[in-house]
Amino acid sequence: MPDQNRRIVVVTGGSRGIGRAICLSFAGPDTHIYFNYFAPGDFAAAEIAAAAETEKLVSGLGGLATGLSVNVASEKDVSSFFKTIIDKTKQVDVLVNNAGITRDGLLVRMKEKDWDAVLDINLKGAFNCMKVAARTMMKQRFGCIINIASVVGATGNPGQANYVASKAGIIGLTKAVALELASRGITVNAVAPGFIETDMTASLSDKAKEAMTSQIPLGRAGKPEDVAAVVAFLASKSAAYITGQVIHVNGGMYM
Ligand code: NAP
Repeated sequence: MPDQNRRIVVVTGGSRGIGRAICLSFAGPDTHIYFNYFAPGDFAAAEIAAAAETEKLVSGLGGLATGLSVNVASEKDVSSFFKTIIDKTKQVDVLVNNAGITRDGLLVRMKEKDWDAVLDINLKGAFNCMKVAARTMMKQRFGCIINIASVVGATGNPGQANYVASKAGIIGLTKAVALELASRGITVNAVAPGFIETDMTASLSDKAKEAMTSQIPLGRAGKPEDVAAVVAFLASKSAAYITGQVIHVNGGMYM
């Protein structure tokens, strides 16, 4: 089936974790999922293998996914990523800004490079992608943008000043862009996960994981699929009247 007859879904950071689950939630015969990940240099075999695994899993569900190595923090790389997609498809129906990193540390010890890396990838990355995708969506007079925030963007968290600032920024960015694009039939929402089992949280000590889980009324960490299901809903026709919202997916740890 040519791309012109498919729903075109773009997911950033789709090679692992929540991003992979989001890709799988969109997998189907009528959809082409373009996702990115970032595999710089000559030592990126694991990143490339993870992206290939996402493509394979989507294909196993009867869908089509194409993964490309793109640094979302680079405006130039993002422009050429979307050019590749739009030259082929002429459309972007859904954009999910999911790529994100942590570089934790207390404020007084936080290095400038760790502040910059987190803000550049988590916040500027979403801005870069929305800016390009919005041009095509405005011409279509249709589109759904979903930004992955975090519960800590609402609550704050010690040791994560950079990450919290990026996620609070994502929430503000979502609302501003929702207001700008609403008249063109484009919805813009954020999903704020709580504590989700992925590589990002795997490095926490068992003690820290137990402390997190004890704060969750539903009594368990979330799974990437718990987040992906809400993203898929926000991109569906059933959510056509929802824009500018932040949907929390956190087992009740913040209400
Ligand atoms: P993850 O397992 O570490 O996966 C991160 C993904 O982002 C990977 O695909 C990674 O690709 C990609 N990525 C990183 N830097 C990139 C860059 N510069 N350009 C393009 N892609 C890049 O993380 P996750 O836990 O699934 O988190 C996904 C999102 O959910 C993030 O925005 C995170 O902040 C948010 N979140 C997570 C949790 C949680 O508890 N896990 C809670 C709240 C919010 P490579 O492997 O190639 O680097």
